[in-house]
Amino acid sequence: MNIHEYQAKEILKGFGVRVQEGILAETPEQAVQAAQKLKQDFNSDWVVVKAQIHAGGRGKGGGVKLAKNHDEVQQRATDIIGMQLVTPQTGAEGKKVHKILVAQDVYYPGESEIKEFYVSVLLDRAKGRNIIMYSTEGGMDIEEVAEKTPHLIFKEEVDPKAGLQGFQARKIAFNLGLSGPAHKEMVKFISALYKAYDTIDASLFEINPVLKTSDDKILAVDAKVNFDENALYRHADYAALRDVLEEDPTEVEAGASNLNYVKLDGNVGCMVNGAGLAMATMDIIKIAGGEPANFLDVGGTANAETVKAGFNIILKDPNVKAILINIFGGIVRCDRVAQGVIDAYNEIGDIPVPIIVRLQGTNAAEAKKLIDDSGLKVYSAILLKEAAELVTKVLKG
Ligand code: GDP
Ligand code: MN
Repeated sequence: MNIHEYQAKEILKGFGVRVQEGILAETPEQAVQAAQKLKQDFNSDWVVVKAQIHAGGRGKGGGVKLAKNHDEVQQRATDIIGMQLVTPQTGAEGKKVHKILVAQDVYYPGESEIKEFYVSVLLDRAKGRNIIMYSTEGGMDIEEVAEKTPHLIFKEEVDPKAGLQGFQARKIAFNLGLSGPAHKEMVKFISALYKAYDTIDASLFEINPVLKTSDDKILAVDAKVNFDENALYRHADYAALRDVLEEDPTEVEAGASNLNYVKLDGNVGCMVNGAGLAMATMDIIKIAGGEPANFLDVGGTANAETVKAGFNIILKDPNVKAILINIFGGIVRCDRVAQGVIDAYNEIGDIPVPIIVRLQGTNAAEAKKLIDDSGLKVYSAILLKEAAELVTKVLKG
């Protein structure tokens, strides 16, 4: 699960990670008030107005703007709130901005140099260890750094039992070229960051940039935090940070019906029980000359309700030319599923595309008979080969 920058910074602060301070706003008026408060609390004359969407690269898309006075704050906020922000990570349609973070300007000039670093914490599944990945090349596209100057990306492995050791944090600060107070600050920053990652059961932290200010403070200018969804039950307060406005609406609806749905670009919708069977079915669709329009796993309990919810979701996709239902009846009997399909069909009414149902397992023959006798525009099959041939046939018209 992904969250917004402002939420991520709130969590990091709770663990003693220094962040670029900011205040959330939903209107230009609130943005101006936020700027006034930042002036009071942090003596920040300039502020940055930052679009809050679940995607990076906001700066490149015009979603992060410096404002030097209240008129500019008002103007930037007016421009950014409500805009359809397109970044390298949103896809061409972009994402609508509902909220902005008005943040203190931390790039203020001074005698010593300002520096931008990259720091992330993630799980290396192959090694079974957490990794702190870091680079002197912060503020830019890390994929580009990895491609062009891979020697500038460092990795530190952390033993999950022992946790991050002091010498490791000092090595990181050293490799980032820091000495004196900035070195100390970085050691504190890395230690607190790792503690936060570990405690909240995150699957990814990406802080780009981490900034060394002109007065040698180390702070998170940006914060991307992903939670491990399998551990969210341990953190009810974090689960509440979910913003469904940022997620694909069809996928949210599917999740609410306990369906595991991922939209794809093809023309044959499929409804299956079990992820393995779903993959096999997608292969079958390809072999039959179609392209899967989705991945949809109805799970262990394929009944009229889940089948109906699945139909409704698949039918929202205008590219769908046929639907293939491929259910293995083990615990769930095939005739029950067949009845579910028939009930759902009758309830939804006129389904505009042909449906092919392949039921195999307990009571498969009874199920086929139910479908064949239903008088509906549903083709039935028992063997996968028959189902594939039917898909080919209906696609050809
Ligand atoms: P992203 O584009 O979505 O990764 O958003 P970031 O939070 O990383 O901000 C993008 C860029 O905006 C940063 O790399 C900085 O160059 C710039 N930026 C962020 N905060 C400030 C600030 O306080 N002052 C100035 N001058 N620039 C900032
Ligand atoms: Mn960033």
